Amino acid sequence: MHCGVCGGTVFSCRPVLWDGLIKEWQLSRSEADYIDRQQGETCDQCGANLRSIALANAVRAFLGTAQTLQEALHGPDSRTLSILEINEAGTLTPFLRRFGGYVFGAYPEVDMHAIPYADATFDVVIHSDTLEHVPNFVHALKECRRVLKPGGALCYTVPTIVGRMTRDRSGLQKSFHGNPATASDDLVVQTEFGADAWTYPMLAGFTDVSIHTAAYPAATALMARNGWTVR
Ligand SMILES: [Zn+2]
Repeated sequence: MHCGVCGGTVFSCRPVLWDGLIKEWQLSRSEADYIDRQQGETCDQCGANLRSIALANAVRAFLGTAQTLQEALHGPDSRTLSILEINEAGTLTPFLRRFGGYVFGAYPEVDMHAIPYADATFDVVIHSDTLEHVPNFVHALKECRRVLKPGGALCYTVPTIVGRMTRDRSGLQKSFHGNPATASDDLVVQTEFGADAWTYPMLAGFTDVSIHTAAYPAATALMARNGWTVR
């Protein structure tokens, strides 16, 4: 495996899930193992976890490059590409920040139900493991599409259990990613995404959706295009 961020080939893994979360998600042992890899397996060279690497691979697919994300910083798109990153996208922020048209939107200060930018502002919108906390996530996806230029793309990750369908957690015991003692309601998990995760950007009006992995099924990222233009 090569790291799509820096090209590194050596990875280390430490488990990150705790028993309470495994129980709330009703994860099997093998599901818990691959979610642990998604969050806890990291590139020794740049520190990106598999989730961030899958996301980098989605961005590379949009750029149409076989270069690593780090190399792409020196490519033809690097000065002009306008990127909106909502919430810190894993460990990609230091790399994304170096693109010429980079804008950061803190979450939850930036309301994903009403993104504070004009229509058709960005080439790329990026968020990572954020949408599962947003109550009306299809509307949030529509908002992401609204601020994208024609031909732009949304690249994002959500924790995904690939062997079952998406489920709404309303009515279930509150579940937090992070320490429940300190987590705010903004970080309550609203939705557990499953094999149909790709259908929601379609519902939000994106024209096509592709799925990119770092190490399937441990980490997948979606790239949803807002129509096509020749780049
Ligand atoms: Zn790396």
